[in-house]
Amino acid sequence: MERENNGSAAHADVVIVGTGHGGAQAAIALRQQGHDGTIMMIGRDSAPPYERPPLSKEYLAGDKGFERIMIRPEKFWADKGIELRLGCGVAEIDPLEHRVTLSDGSAIGYRKLIWSGGGDPRRLPCIGANRKNVFYVRDKRDADAMMAALDAGAKRAVVIGGGYIGLEAAAVLRKLGCAVTLVESEDRVLKRVAGEELSRFYEDEHRRQGVDIRLGRGVEEIVGENSHATGVRLDGDEILPCDMVVVGIGIVPAVAPLIAAGAAGSNGVDVDFCCRTTLDDIYAIGDCAAHVNPYADQAVIRLESVQNAHDMATTVARAIMGEKEPYNALPWFWSNQYDLKLQTAGLSLGYDATVLRGDPADRRFTLVYLKEGRPIAFDCVNTMKDYVQGRKLLEKGIEKIDPALLADPEVQLKELI
Ligand code: FAD
Repeated sequence: MERENNGSAAHADVVIVGTGHGGAQAAIALRQQGHDGTIMMIGRDSAPPYERPPLSKEYLAGDKGFERIMIRPEKFWADKGIELRLGCGVAEIDPLEHRVTLSDGSAIGYRKLIWSGGGDPRRLPCIGANRKNVFYVRDKRDADAMMAALDAGAKRAVVIGGGYIGLEAAAVLRKLGCAVTLVESEDRVLKRVAGEELSRFYEDEHRRQGVDIRLGRGVEEIVGENSHATGVRLDGDEILPCDMVVVGIGIVPAVAPLIAAGAAGSNGVDVDFCCRTTLDDIYAIGDCAAHVNPYADQAVIRLESVQNAHDMATTVARAIMGEKEPYNALPWFWSNQYDLKLQTAGLSLGYDATVLRGDPADRRFTLVYLKEGRPIAFDCVNTMKDYVQGRKLLEKGIEKIDPALLADPEVQLKELI
């Protein structure tokens, strides 16, 4: 193999950009499928591949150390002949020459390139957002910085954003004894991804756990002294005093080098049924890949979930090995807050009705999303059986079901298939 002075290869059969869920699974799946060429993973993160979901859950809470969130033990990659170039980003792609240039100036040639760059946290667009104790929750460094602030005595937190990451961070911060205020600009939490019944349930739960939730409020400024935030000024001039600010307001797909190289895409990068971009021999997977999804009525969407990153990675590995199977996996997702385990199956996009199975007051219920009478998604709170059976029901593609049967927790979902 051609090598640079630093011992790193200057060419790999498959170059994978990004060492997160999609990138790691692509390398693993290639080896599982029998790929015996050289594989190089290039990642901006300096830590070996690790799971992201625990960063707002068990890792942040201190319940799991780094070793327990690593995707594979560190030696796995070398054992499988997968070269890791960590702490180094891909800055440019030359699609004609089949070559990437890294932020340190070195160039790597490839036969096939898999882009799994995920996304960068959307930054708060207000004055003071750069203060040191304003934290985002995307990578290990972010979580470590928050943990250091907590160790240094931070006791009052303002969480900005009532999506899953903001809510999970709020739950952990409460568990760690912080006073937490959560600010959401919409009139309910989880508005982008869930029905009103689920939003109201989680708002009630968080309030019960002592979180002060402010809905329909905009953030005007992060106020502070020098580079240190001491409060969040909301619209209407109210200031929420705090020792730390946690921001979870979504991501911006990390695809700039791909788009600059000529790949099509407006929200991320466009990919076809087996995750090929419009550039020859370049695939894209995971959070950044805009694809036609059969579970969203063929709409072009991006999905931000471990399932999507994994399944797309496997699709690409198969395609590279000559087996072109379309990506059509059922979307699923989970979120842990306090002792509540939410599991979702399907996509609720475009639902026109919901059915509640069970009583939220019991902290065990399922919200079923319907479109023209057809179930399209299930949000299952502490109802594992509904999740498993709901998945089967969606995979079967059942048409209309009597809502009264769906609403009856005594009727098992599998009986409706
Ligand atoms: P990532 O895993 O984000 O990996 C992308 C990697 O690419 C990053 O390491 C990035 O640094 C690197 N990169 C970007 N640009 C470049 C470049 N130019 N050069 C080199 N490297 C680059 N999903 C669930 O299903 N359930 C959950 O409970 C859940 N919880 C989450 C909690 C948190 C705190 C976060 C942040 C995410 C959570 N997710 C969850 C989402 C899930 O982690 C992502 O959907 C998944 O990681 C996407 O995989 P990916 O490979 O597309 O991107």
